[in-house]
Amino acid sequence: MTTIKQNLATITQQIEDACQKAGRSATEVTCIAVTKSVSVERTQEAIDTGILHVGENRPEGLLHKQEHITAPVVWHYIGSLQTRKVKQVIQTIDYLHSLDRMSLVEEIQKRAEKTVKCFVQVNVSGEESKHGLTPADAIAFVKTLAAYDRIEVVGLMTMAPDVEDEAVIRRTFSGLKEVQQQICALELPYAPCRELSMGMSGDFAIAIEEGATFIRIGTALVGE
Ligand SMILES: *Cc1c(COP(=O)(O)O)cnc(C)c1O
Repeated sequence: MTTIKQNLATITQQIEDACQKAGRSATEVTCIAVTKSVSVERTQEAIDTGILHVGENRPEGLLHKQEHITAPVVWHYIGSLQTRKVKQVIQTIDYLHSLDRMSLVEEIQKRAEKTVKCFVQVNVSGEESKHGLTPADAIAFVKTLAAYDRIEVVGLMTMAPDVEDEAVIRRTFSGLKEVQQQICALELPYAPCRELSMGMSGDFAIAIEEGATFIRIGTALVGE
């Protein structure tokens, strides 16, 4: 296994190359280490290497990591979140990447002691296996959130299809950006919607070229 330090050096170079290609600054892109399939020790190793943002996709995994890691980490919840599990995690996370329904909004409003930075999850590719709202539903959904002061829509999140065809992946990411720009143009005070959470180990360079500001990297950084 390569070390996390080596992996991070490679990824950092790839981020810089993608930014250069797109005429963007690498400071616009934040790398979230997705640690869902690795131990506390390996997560700590990533943090020691300079990672500040950590993502988990299950309440149990998140709480376990948080219990053992004392470093000042920015915690991202990236998985789908069951309504009944909101109370377990909502006080302890900095960002939620999977806001996708009204029942979740209402539970967050009820449970959160402060405003939660949320990404609305959008199913751009239309695959049945994927979570998230359709682009049209995402826009309509965001418009209905004015009364919920515990929700701030900082951006949108999507996952690209797991396919070889780069054009399909690219279209998914550019599609998310189009939705983001439409929401941004509404100038809703509770939905600045400037961020794009898109790109994983296999496709983050394409995501950056299409405007990603948060990439979520698991296997390429911390291993299987
Ligand atoms: C697991 C996961 C990732 C990271 O995937 P890798 O391919 O290992 O980089 C990113 N986003 C979400 C939502 C995930 O569940």
